[in-house]
Parts: sequence; structure tokens; C-alpha cells
Amino acid sequence: MSLYLKYRPQNFTSLVGQEHAKKTIQSALKSNSLSHAYLFCGPRGTGKTSLARILAKGLNCVSPVSEVEPCNQCEICTSINTGRLVDLIEIDAASNRGIDEIRELREKIVFAPSQAKTKVYIIDEVHMLTKEAFNALLKTLEEPPSHAYFVLATTEAHKIPETIISRCQQFSFSRIDVSDISQRLKEIAETEGAKYEMEALDLIAKLSAGGLRDAIGLFEQMMTAGDVTTEKVSESLGLTGGEHLEKFFNYLLERKTLKAVQLLNQIKSKGRSTAQFLKEIISYCREQMLINLGNSKDTQIVLRFIEIFTQAKQQIDLSPIPELPIEMAIIKACEFAVEKPQEAPASEKAVEKPVAKAVAEIKDEAVKKEVTEATTADETPTELRFEQIKKDWQRVLDAIETPFIKMSLTDGEPVRYASGILTIAFNSSTYMDKVNSAANQADVQDAFEKVFGSKLSLNLEVKKVELTPLVKKTEESAKPASTEPTAVEMAAEVFGIK
Ligand SMILES: [Zn+2]
Repeated sequence: MSLYLKYRPQNFTSLVGQEHAKKTIQSALKSNSLSHAYLFCGPRGTGKTSLARILAKGLNCVSPVSEVEPCNQCEICTSINTGRLVDLIEIDAASNRGIDEIRELREKIVFAPSQAKTKVYIIDEVHMLTKEAFNALLKTLEEPPSHAYFVLATTEAHKIPETIISRCQQFSFSRIDVSDISQRLKEIAETEGAKYEMEALDLIAKLSAGGLRDAIGLFEQMMTAGDVTTEKVSESLGLTGGEHLEKFFNYLLERKTLKAVQLLNQIKSKGRSTAQFLKEIISYCREQMLINLGNSKDTQIVLRFIEIFTQAKQQIDLSPIPELPIEMAIIKACEFAVEKPQEAPASEKAVEKPVAKAVAEIKDEAVKKEVTEATTADETPTELRFEQIKKDWQRVLDAIETPFIKMSLTDGEPVRYASGILTIAFNSSTYMDKVNSAANQADVQDAFEKVFGSKLSLNLEVKKVELTPLVKKTEESAKPASTEPTAVEMAAEVFGIK
């Protein structure tokens, strides 16, 4: 069992955050005035379905502690905890658009509960329901039988029809405080007997953007691999520290080109290869990017640095003088650092951006309208063009909630879009693998949907970069776009050039 499931809060007291929703529901339970329909809105991993289940237990527990706190011992509580209570019906609107489920719900809701006192329906990701399903649900919500209660949960409140919202008592779930997440991780670490550094837990908490589920998932990943140390967390996320890196980075920001080059030479004289240093500086820039999240101007500078140095890294092996690409990169980075990024980068970007933004805003509005009026499952939004995706890709990145997924995705770029399938090419298979897991893909898909209002499938691949060690590694682990060696690669093979 995953740690997240193991430590899923089982009563009001152990649920982290969401004080307002918790208190209101507890006092409604006490005064027997619970609303028949609730709408829980908020980011993923903030406790929506956990609270819904606790509510179901609170309603049905045979021997509640202090009036409304479920005992987690009685038959009803244990059945709910193990997912066996037939009177608790959970519908995942994301995996099927709900027509059959809602039809079945309407047919069966009139029957009295079989084991518990009440029937509780939890509809997760309710915004995914089709127009027909929403209409059917609305009829039920208008006159629910006295034994039936509803909790609708969503990450996208704006997609819920007004008619549904008006039938529900609504709670907004906020991101959980970093300190609360660290505290919870600490409790788990201690219960599990894991060795940890508090700083490492803080870093995990900071990186999970208020989502406890992601935080616990990341913690578990670290714990499985041994002690949970800051170094390990940083390393696994591609963040590395180092005084010289900070110095180097600041020289770039201050446009001290010569100093930066001198520092590079110093570092090299200590036996570090240019390629290794480039890798470290890219990691350091990523770390800065995370720290600067929310400050778009700084983030833009750092993103540009990452692009510049990633490009340099790809060119190293092709360059007749190995230092040349990094020296050029230093000059480019210094030039960029002093310009105002919003006006500065390649002139095409500066021109395109406002237009792209305006187009996107118009599209956003159109999508919202479409959704509130009537979302239907099969409606394909106006055809999306690849150029537009490419232009607005930053907005997709911005819409991703979990920093380490966002960070990993920054390593890739969209290269093709056809029949709803977007191909993203990554520089590194490590980052591709991070994005590749089902949950992380779903995050990217959600962000994409937020920006463009349409769904997509992802096709991830590693960029075919001639001669970099990256590709060699990739050819073993993942399948590159083409396995045909290029002429240069063959030549390199023949001459034994790395
Ligand atoms: Zn109980």
C-alpha cells in the first residue's frame, strides 16, 4: 500500500488544513442540518475526497467519538475504510463521462440504503460529466430523497454549470501550507522509522505546491531509496548547490562576462570537465527557476539561461574547440541578463507574445462560455494548430501545479501535433521518464486543457541529438525517434570519438 493511502486521514482531526470546511461540516453533523449536496473545489491532493469519506463516516458511524468524529472501529467505518460499503457510491467522472453512472444513480437512489443509515454519493472530477449527465444529476439534486447525500469534487470549479452550483453548498479547498505539509511528513517519517533531515522534508513540501498527496509520494520515493536527505532530494530533482555555481550565476546576472569566463577556467583547472560543469550550471538554473516561481520576470531570465546552456551542452562534442560553446553561451547569457526580458528576447518572441496572449485569452473566454452553457463530451473545440501550441507552451507550463513536473517538462519542447496527439521531445530521458508516469501525464493534460480547452494525448520522445552522450544513454533505455545513425555518428563511431 502506498504511504499516501496508508496515511490517508480517517477522521476530521487528522485531516490537514481546510479548517473552514471541516468546522462547518462538523457543526452541521452535530445539529443534524447537513446539506444534501456539497461541492468541494480545489487543487489536487488537498483533501477533497478524504473529507468526503470522513463526512460519509460521520453520517453513518454507529458509535461516533465526541458526537461526530467517526470511530473507525464499527462495521460501517471499517467498510468505508476498505471501500466495501455499498451505500457509499464513488463515481469518477474523469474515467467515464458519467452517462451510465448517473442513469444508474437515478434509478437506484430511491431505494433505501442497505447497510448504513444514509447513502452517500461522491462524484470526483465532476466537471468532466457530459451535458446529459449534468442534466440528469441536476434533476436528482433538485429533489434528493431524504436518505441521500452528495459530495461533488472538482479541480475546475469554473466548468461546473451554474444550475448545479446553486444546488450545492460550496467549499474552496486551498493549497496546504508548506509548514503543515512538512509537519505531516515528519509524523509519517517518524511512524515509519525513516531517517530524515528536516530540511529535506521542508524542501519536499516546498516543491509540492500545497498538494499533500504529491508531497507524500515524493517522500515515499526518497524513503524507499534510504535516508531522506536534502542532498538526495536535490539530486533526484536535478537541483545541485555549490558556491562556485552561485558565483558563476551571479556573474551572468551582473553581466560580468570576463569574470564568468575566468571562473570557468578556474573550475576547469581543478579537473572538472566543461560538460560536467555545464550540467551543473543547468541544474543550478533549474533550482533558481523553482525558487523564483511566481516571479515571472526572474523566471524568464532563468529559463533563457537554461535554454542557452542546454544548447551549449548539445554543441560541445561537435565543436572543434570544446570551450567554445560554453564561452558563447556565457556571452549570450550576459547579454540577455541586462535586457528587460519582457521586451528583449529574440525579436520574434517579443512581437508574438502579446498576440499569442490575446488569442489565448479570447480562446479562454470562448472555452469558459462553452463549458458553462453546455459541456458535451464529444465536442471538439475549434481546431488547434501546432503553431498556437508552440506559442502558448509557456502558459501550459505555468498552469502545471506541481513544480517537479513543471521542471521536468521544461526539458522538453512540443515538436508535432496531429489528431489530438502532441509530441514532446526531451533533451534528457530522465526528465521524460518523470513526465511519463500516468499521474504526471494527467497533470500535463489538465494544464493543456486549461489553456486550450481541449484534450490531448501525449507522445514523449527523446531528442535526437548528434553525438552527445545523452543520445547514447537514450538508445539503451528509451526508444529514440529514429535508430538510423547519422553520418556524423557513424564517423564518430569509426574514429572512436566520444
Ligand atoms: Zn464508526
